Amino acid sequence: MTTTLITNIGELVTNDPEAEDLLGLVQDAALVVEGSRIAWTGRAADAPDADERVDLGGRAVVPGFVDSHSHLVFAGDRAQEFAARMAGTPYAAGGIRTTVAATRAATDEQLTSHVARLVEEMRRQGTTTVEIKSGYGLTVKDEARSLAVARQFTEETTYLGAHVVPDGDPGEYVDLVTGPMLDAAREHARWIDVFCERGAFDADQARAILGAGAGAGLRGRLHANQLGYGDGVRLAAELGLLAVDHCTYLADEDVDALRDSGTIATLLPGVEFSTRQPYPDARRLIDAGVRVAIASDCNPGSCFTSSVPLCIALAVREMGMTPAEAVHAATYRGAEALDRDDVGALVVGRRADLAVLDAPTHVHLAYRPGVPLVVQTWIAGRPG
Ligand SMILES: [Zn+2]
Repeated sequence: MTTTLITNIGELVTNDPEAEDLLGLVQDAALVVEGSRIAWTGRAADAPDADERVDLGGRAVVPGFVDSHSHLVFAGDRAQEFAARMAGTPYAAGGIRTTVAATRAATDEQLTSHVARLVEEMRRQGTTTVEIKSGYGLTVKDEARSLAVARQFTEETTYLGAHVVPDGDPGEYVDLVTGPMLDAAREHARWIDVFCERGAFDADQARAILGAGAGAGLRGRLHANQLGYGDGVRLAAELGLLAVDHCTYLADEDVDALRDSGTIATLLPGVEFSTRQPYPDARRLIDAGVRVAIASDCNPGSCFTSSVPLCIALAVREMGMTPAEAVHAATYRGAEALDRDDVGALVVGRRADLAVLDAPTHVHLAYRPGVPLVVQTWIAGRPG
């Protein structure tokens, strides 16, 4: 198998869990890629020989971003809704229906090419693993095809039939989501998710939907406490879910429940940026001992950014995270939030997924917001 030495790395973020510092930083570093995996990391001066050699000229290298929350399968856009919101119209969950109509009207080819474009946009910004949800089909056929499209791009596909009640009786819709729609979705999905929020699904409905999903072999995730206080975060903790996403409005008992259950709080600061809502308080969660991930939530309504670097900058500026915590949250914690131990760190045995920054350190991701610092992204040992 071909080996490649990537050397003259000014600063290497390994996320080695054995290291004394959070990021497992190595200065003047190198790493060796063998096939798709990391075979060696350390000081450049100590590096072994390899078949090929890439000199990064002192640039920093971070693990590829693991974006554990996105909604990329959709058609149309909602730029006018965004403009209206910026002119004072409040955000509400119902805008999802606009995208549902456009998505149902799109062909499979249109949906696929649109997802391909967004995944490529993410890759150019350093994202190497992305979770993709359905949730803009909301019929048996359209949810199944949304997941089949997503599956072409990632193993991390999430069935979100319970995004919003499209029309009619909510009870009947929950029966559909937990019955025929689940049967059609399960073969294409690894996860099941519910938008547990006023205007969407309540905690009892979420419990029923996640329970049905578990029965079909799908692991649960939850959108909760985005728009106001509620029971969603405590439900996630009670069910022992791996991650609960948004966590903007948290009572003290919610924070305690997350700490006690070990459930990861995935914060999505692009949403608050794009809706002018208050940001979640990452500092409070981390200080309480809760694991925090950050992700893009890329979607056409509440947050149409695919940029994890932007989310890192926002997490530092607006949520009280240090640059090191934010980078860790977008890589290592993102991998944990997807139960992946093969990505999210640049240590021996993991997949060689990395982002090369045109910068001397990871700090620049927050220090230079909006600047396209990612100059190369490697996935499974191959530069893109
Ligand atoms: Zn979402």
